[in-house]
Formats: sequence, structure tokens, C-alpha cells
Amino acid sequence: MYSEERIVPRPWLADARMTRDVLERHNFTMVKKFGQNFLVDPGVLEGIVEAAEIYPEDLVIEIGPGIGTLTQYLCVAAGQVVAVEIDKLLMPVLEETLRGYHNVEVINEDILKVDIDRIVEEKNEGRPVKIVANLPYYITTPIIMTLLERHIPFESITIMVQKEVADRMQAHPGSKDYGALSLAVQYYADPEVVMSVPPSAFMPRPKVDSSVIKLDAVSEPKVNVSDEKLFFKIVRACFNQRRKTMVNGLKNSEDLSFSKEEIEGAIISIDKPLTVRGETLTLEEFAALTNALGDARTTL
Ligand code: SAM
Repeated sequence: MYSEERIVPRPWLADARMTRDVLERHNFTMVKKFGQNFLVDPGVLEGIVEAAEIYPEDLVIEIGPGIGTLTQYLCVAAGQVVAVEIDKLLMPVLEETLRGYHNVEVINEDILKVDIDRIVEEKNEGRPVKIVANLPYYITTPIIMTLLERHIPFESITIMVQKEVADRMQAHPGSKDYGALSLAVQYYADPEVVMSVPPSAFMPRPKVDSSVIKLDAVSEPKVNVSDEKLFFKIVRACFNQRRKTMVNGLKNSEDLSFSKEEIEGAIISIDKPLTVRGETLTLEEFAALTNALGDARTTL
């Protein structure tokens, strides 16, 4: 049986009329610079929470609660919610819309500056959390890369992103969408698009289509890399100069200091021609190349 604390109000904010009411009452105007497009479609909100598979024992971290629309749903499903919002003008709004939801803490901060590890440690004894968000589109890739590269302990990340970004996360070699983001996401997680969302689900309507994508953390690394930092430097170098051969991309990178001979030796060792481009290499081949280059460095 739930304790009294778990009795929370039903979400009441999820339509255009209620959203408009709240915004007017607080004299709040949405700003483009923070990517403020609020959800006004209950079906989409329910779909996000369902896809995220949230249970009463879960700690959910929400990035960018806005006026608290998705947050209300998360509070009903989860044990605890920590919502990180950059815009201080939204604090009084959230105070009103989240009144009665006792299992939520709002942090007024830039998600890129928050010590998420500390939150996970203090509030969830270090156990993996579920991250859920309708992300601000101006900063989607830096947020995803930060969560992944900092090794935030997560079970899943369920996020609304621009459709093109979701396509990039799922892309495979040979596709025009394949790049550093595809490899980073697929290195740490199994991505799956769970919903397509039209502009009409938001207020104001964005000019682009959106997708909800779920990234399930992998329990074991999919590939063996001796030096993860080197792996991502190599991946970035290859895709920063997409049109160049890999030899030139790696040679020209300011982050790497391998000689042409070392690079060519590593490429040959993974059975690829010297004219190969990074966009054709699989995750496994990037890992093998990293290990070959790592070996070249240690045998100097
Ligand atoms: N979750 C709400 C919804 O679905 O209606 C709002 C989503 S809106 C697309 C993105 C939210 O992220 C905005 O409230 C914006 O102010 C906030 N935001 C933008 N940049 C942020 C950052 N760096 N850290 C935390 N929140 C941010």
C-alpha cells in the first residue's frame, strides 16, 4: 500500500488551455534561447512516461521541466523526481504547478553544470537512474554527450529530440546520418525510437518534426577499447573531416599526434584500404583501430 506521501494529484496541466492559463497568470513568455516549446498533448506525455517504464522505486531526473507538464506525470509514476531547470523565471510557476507533488525537487541550474553523480549518490545510493526529458533542441547533442561521457549511472534515457537527431543516434555505417553521435550513443546504449511527434504537440509549435528516443544502457560494453578517451578522439577526428580519407583526418587532428606511418599501419592491421573513410567503419572497427593505435603508441 502507498504511504500518504505517495498520494499525488492527477496531472492537470497537459493541454493548451491550462498551459495558456498558467502562462498568463504568471505573465511568462517563452523564450527561444532556452528552447522553450512546452508539451500540450496528453497522449504524447502518457506515451513518454509509458516508454520510460517508470516504477515507484525509481529516481527520475528530468532535464528542463518548463512549467512542469511532464514533471506532473513523472511524479505520479516515480518514487522521486529531480527536475533541473535553467530559467529562474520558471521557478514561481513550478512552485504553483508542482504544489501537492511531494516527491519532486526542482534545481534551478544549467544541466551541464549540475553534479548529477552527487544527486545519484545522495538520492539513489548510487543506483542507476532513469533520465527523461523533452530536451531543449539548441543544446541536445552537448547534453547527451555530457550524460554519456561522464558515465552518469543511468538505466535508460528517454528523450524528445528533433527527428534528425534521433535518426543520427540510430544510424549505421554508410548512412549520411552516421557520425560521432551515432557511435557515442551506440557505444554506451541501445537506442530505439519509440514515438514520432508532430509540431502540433507543442506550444509554440517548432518548425521541425520530433521523435522520442529511448537509450537503454548496455550492461556490458559492446566493444573492448583499451583507451576510451583515445577512441572518442579518433571518432571525432574522422567525422570532423568527413570528406577526407581517414589517414588525413587522423593526421590533421589537433587532438592526436600519430605519424602517418603509425596511422597507415593501424589501418592495414584492421584489414582496411588506406583510402578508407571513417563513415564506413563499424563500432567494432573503430574499437580495433583505437587499440591498434594505442599499441603503436606504447611500443614507441
Ligand atoms: N518539459 C517541458 C515540457 O515538456 O513541456 C519543457 C520542455 S522545453 C522543450 C525545454 C526546457 O529546458 C525549457 O523549460 C528550458 O528553459 C529548459 N532548459 C534549456 N536549457 C537548459 C539547460 N541547459 N539546463 C536545464 N534546463 C534547460
